[in-house]
This record gives sequence, C-alpha cells and structure tokens, in this order.
Amino acid sequence: MKIAAAELRRIHLPLREPFKIAYNTWTSMPSLILRLETDTDLVGWGESVPDEGVTGETIEGVYATLAERLLPELIGHDAFAIEEFHERAGKAINGGYAAKAAIDLALFDLKGQSCNQPLYQMLGGNTNVVTAPAVLGMTAPQALKDSLLEYMAAGYTHYKLKLGGGWAEDCRRVALARETLGDGATIKVDANQGWGTWDMALKVIRSIEPYNIELVEQPVRHWDFAGLQRVRQNSPIPIMVDEGVCDARDLLRLILAGGIDWVNIKLMKCGGILPATKMAALAEAAGIKVQVGSMLESSIGSLAGAHLHRAQSCIKSSEMVGPRWFSQDIGDFRYQGCQVVFSDRPGLGVEIDEDMLKRLTVSGVRIEQSGARPLP
Ligand code: MG
Repeated sequence: MKIAAAELRRIHLPLREPFKIAYNTWTSMPSLILRLETDTDLVGWGESVPDEGVTGETIEGVYATLAERLLPELIGHDAFAIEEFHERAGKAINGGYAAKAAIDLALFDLKGQSCNQPLYQMLGGNTNVVTAPAVLGMTAPQALKDSLLEYMAAGYTHYKLKLGGGWAEDCRRVALARETLGDGATIKVDANQGWGTWDMALKVIRSIEPYNIELVEQPVRHWDFAGLQRVRQNSPIPIMVDEGVCDARDLLRLILAGGIDWVNIKLMKCGGILPATKMAALAEAAGIKVQVGSMLESSIGSLAGAHLHRAQSCIKSSEMVGPRWFSQDIGDFRYQGCQVVFSDRPGLGVEIDEDMLKRLTVSGVRIEQSGARPLP
C-alpha cells in the first residue's frame, strides 16, 4: 500500500471564547489538516497544531516543511513503514515534531483501516471511553466561577486550572475553584512556566496545598531542569513536566537528572503516535506516570490522543479538550458529559465534514507524483 497523493489545508478553528494561558492568548486556533490517499483508495487523516512557545514551530513553517519537504518525499512511500518514515524524517529535520505528527497520524489511520481495526485495539487497548477534564483558562474570577458551574452542571469531575498570573491571583483562583466545586472534584493546576523561578513556584505551591491539588504542571521554565528538581524535592504536591519534555531524549535527560512524578506527552511535541509510545515505555520503566495531553486540536488530533490513551496502561489520563473549545469543528469527536466514547470504526475512525473543512480552509495544496497544485 503506497502513498499516492497528499492534500494539506491550513484552517482556522473558531474558538467559543479566547483561550488565555501564562505565555499566550488565542482567539482562534490555526491548524493544518492532512489527507493522504493510497494506491488502494484508502484515505488517512492527520493534523498538525504547532505551538511556537513549546516546540518553536510556527504554522507557516510547518506548512512549508510539510508541503516542500516531507510530503513530496512521502509520495510512493509504503504506508505501513512508519518507523522508516520517522528515521528518514529524523535524519532530514532536527525537531519539526508538529510537522512529523501530521504524517504519523495519517499513516496510523491508514494502517488501522487497512487492518480493519480501530487504532486503540491495534495498539493493544480494549476500551474506547476516556474521561475529559474541564480546562479553565486565565479568566476573571466571575467568568471562572460561571465556567466552573457550567462544567459541574454537565457532570465534570476533573478540572485543570491554568495558573501563572502571580502568587496572589493564583491563590485566589484555586480557592475560588475549590469553594465552587466542593471536596469531591479533582483539581490540578498548570503554571505553564509562568512562575518563572523555583522559589516563586514553591511559594505558590505551599500556599495552594490546603486545597487538595492532585498535581502541579510545569512550575518552572522549560529549560530549567535543576529548578524543576528543587521544586519536586520540596513540593508537597506531585509535579508534572510538560513544556520541559518534548521527545524521548528530553525525557531520558530528565530521568538521568532525577526524574519526575508525571510527564505530559503530546503528539505535537514528539512527532506522533510512534514516538509517543516509545516515550511512554521509557516513562513506565522509570516509574513515571503518563498523561497524553493535547494542544487545542480538532477531532483528528483529539481522536489520535484518545486512542493512544487507551492503548497503554502507564497512560493514566488524557486531556482531549480541543473540540469542546471550538464553535465549529471538522470532525465528530463528541462529549457525553465529561466522557468521550470515541469511534469504533477502523483507524482513527474520524468522520470528516468535508464542507466544513473547505469553509474553514485558508489555503491548501495537493501533492502528487507529477507535482503540486493549489487547492481551490
Ligand atoms: Mg501544560
């Protein structure tokens, strides 16, 4: 089964409201949607949502990497040879993980379809249900309270608060959330590097400890492994690394530097499902719990993360929240309260709304053996 053609579309996914975290605010989410066609008439879907604050990749750069480098070389490639794709792409491009993820996801979609198995089963899992947390951006107190009440009414049990606004503001947000949600809800917090230094991080962590917080994500800057260790050794709350670990080499360095309680693996940070499974194996061997996180991804990336979550037992949680934030999406990732019962169809199992995809398209290109042409 060979790759015969590729279509790449740059789209803008409209958000219901702006998404604000410590290092950025988004009013809509740019995404790249990849459609691979095989010589056996199968169609596989992939997605790339780069976050330049994390991997340094911009949407324009990823588009160019895919359209000019990776996709032309993929035409004629054996769709099952996913390891070979990563080996070749890894030699050609250092990093570039969000670009590689688009192809990795589409190849896994094709593989699952060709084997007539949903991806989670093909990867070793046996259930297609995940629990989604409510992720709350850095909004004003009343807006935060309104959102919490809305999620509670919808049956949510797990909450993640975006912090990093400073000691006083962060303490107020956590207190407000616990007061609103009561004792039963699970609350975790994500500073997104916003506390800056390890001593400021510990100051906030010690202040929010009485509110029964499950874990604290990325308390220091992404490069600060020494600070991360100081926080972890002195923190009464378990620590998760996110921006500080993109690929397996980062994770190995962190393990050698002393380890961590949790790692947040994201397909867009590591290059897709195959690299993510290697990272999960490394984490498991080191006794580190794994979460599969996401950028705000459409149904395609969200489905890939959900399948992966259910494939490996060391993956304890996932955060597939993109489709909840979008007012329009190109696929059928649907929430039932806080649960997602995702597709049992072969591969990713995504049903694409092609009209919506065209409506949201800003620009696109079709690549075949004979060359490239712009999409209408
Ligand atoms: Mg995070």
